[in-house]
Amino acid sequence: MIYLDHNAATPILAEVLEAMMPYLTTEWGNPSSAYKFGSKLKSVIKTAREQVAELIGAHPMDVIFTSCATESNNAAIAAALKANPTKRHIITSQVEHSSVLNYCMALEKQSQDSPQSSQRSQRRDPRSVSVFSVPSVVNGSSDGYRVTYLPVDREGLLNLADLEAAITEETAVVSLMWANNETGVLFPVEKIAEICRSRGVLYHCDAVQAAGKVPIDVRKLPADYLSLTGHKFHAPKGIGARNLSRENRDVRRKSPFSPLVYGGHQERNRRGGTESVPLIVGMGKAAQLARRHLPDCGKKVRPLRDELEEGILSSIPNTELNGHKTQRIANTTNFTFHGIESEALLILLDKEGICASSGSACLADSDEPSHVIKAMKPDAAASRQMIRFSLGDATAREGIEVVVNAVKCQTAALRDVLSPH
Ligand code: PLP
Repeated sequence: MIYLDHNAATPILAEVLEAMMPYLTTEWGNPSSAYKFGSKLKSVIKTAREQVAELIGAHPMDVIFTSCATESNNAAIAAALKANPTKRHIITSQVEHSSVLNYCMALEKQSQDSPQSSQRSQRRDPRSVSVFSVPSVVNGSSDGYRVTYLPVDREGLLNLADLEAAITEETAVVSLMWANNETGVLFPVEKIAEICRSRGVLYHCDAVQAAGKVPIDVRKLPADYLSLTGHKFHAPKGIGARNLSRENRDVRRKSPFSPLVYGGHQERNRRGGTESVPLIVGMGKAAQLARRHLPDCGKKVRPLRDELEEGILSSIPNTELNGHKTQRIANTTNFTFHGIESEALLILLDKEGICASSGSACLADSDEPSHVIKAMKPDAAASRQMIRFSLGDATAREGIEVVVNAVKCQTAALRDVLSPH
C-alpha cells in the first residue's frame, strides 16, 4: 500500500502506542477517584497537557482536552457567541472544514427556526444545513445569527480587505483556519488575529492541519481559541484539544470558559466527561514527538511532494494544480484532472494499492463535489475532478514514481474510455 492521505489520518507511532499501553491494560482507573489507583492518573494527564501545550507554545492550564477537533471548533464558536450575547454576526470562510461550516449553518438555521422567526422562515426557502454547496457570501436572518462566508481567490487565498470590510459592531467571532485540509493553503493567521484584536472581535483558529507541520506559538498569535486533533499528528482518533488565549485576559474574564459539554468537574469544569487517559497520553506523546520532529518536518516531505507534483503536471495533460504554489503546507498537493471524475480515478488507484482522496474524509460518503475547490474555481466540473495527495514522514521516494506512473496510466485509460471515437 502507498498511503498518501495523511490529511485524513496518520498512523499511530510505535512510541505513542507504547506510552498508551499501560493505560489500556493495567492502569485503567478513573482519574477522578479518591483512591490512588485512580487519582494517580491525574499526574499523567498533567504531563500530556504540558506536552500538548509545548507544541503550541501555550500555558498548560489553557489546554482543554476534547473528543475531537469537531468538538473543539463547535465549542470555541459557541463560547465566543456566549461571551457576546448581543452580537449576532459570525465571520468564517467558504473553505473551512465542515465542523465549522455546518455549525455556522446550523446556527443560521436555528435562528430561522426560532419562534420569533418561524412565521418569516415559512415564507423563505428552507436552508439545508450542508456544506456541499458553497455558501453564499452572506447568509442568515436579521433576527438570529448572521454568517459571512468570506470567498477565496482561484489559488485559495483570502483577501484580508474582505475580512476588514466584513467586521461590524455586530461581529462576535471570526473563525478562519490555519491550513486548508484539501489544498494545504495557509491563511495569514497572524494578520487575521491582529485585525480581529484591533477590531475587538474574538478569533478562533482551526489549526488541525497546521499542528506538527508548521511552528505554532500562541504567544505570538493572538487567537482567542485554537483547535487541534490528535489523529493528524500520529495520535489515535477520538482525542482533540482546544486552547484558550492566556494573553488576552480581558476576553478570558468575559466568558472563554463556557463549556459545550456540561457534566462533571473534569478539565476544571470546562469539559465534562471522564477523561480518556490512554488517548490523552497518546496525544501528549504524539505532540512531544511532533515538536521534536518539527524542524525537519518539511525537509523530507516537501521534495517528495514537489517531485510528485512535477511528475504529474509534466506527464499528464489537462491537469491543473489547486492551491497556491508556495503558501501551502509541505505535505499536500491537490490536482484537477479535467474530464475525469475523482471517484473513478480513486477506485482505480485503490486497486493498485494507492490511497488518496477527493477531499475531506468527513464528507467522503456524500457524492457532492469539493466545496473548497468549488469556492476557488466556481466551474462545477473542477470540484468533481480533484484528487488530494497528502504525504507523511514515512512516505518513501520509490513510492512517488509508482504513484506518478499509476496516475498517468489510469487517467489515460479513463480518458480513452470517455473520449468519443
Ligand atoms: N478541521 C480540519 C481542518 C480538519 O481537517 C478536520 C479533520 O479532517 C477537522 C477539523 C475535524 O477533526 P476531527 O475529525 O478530530 O473532528
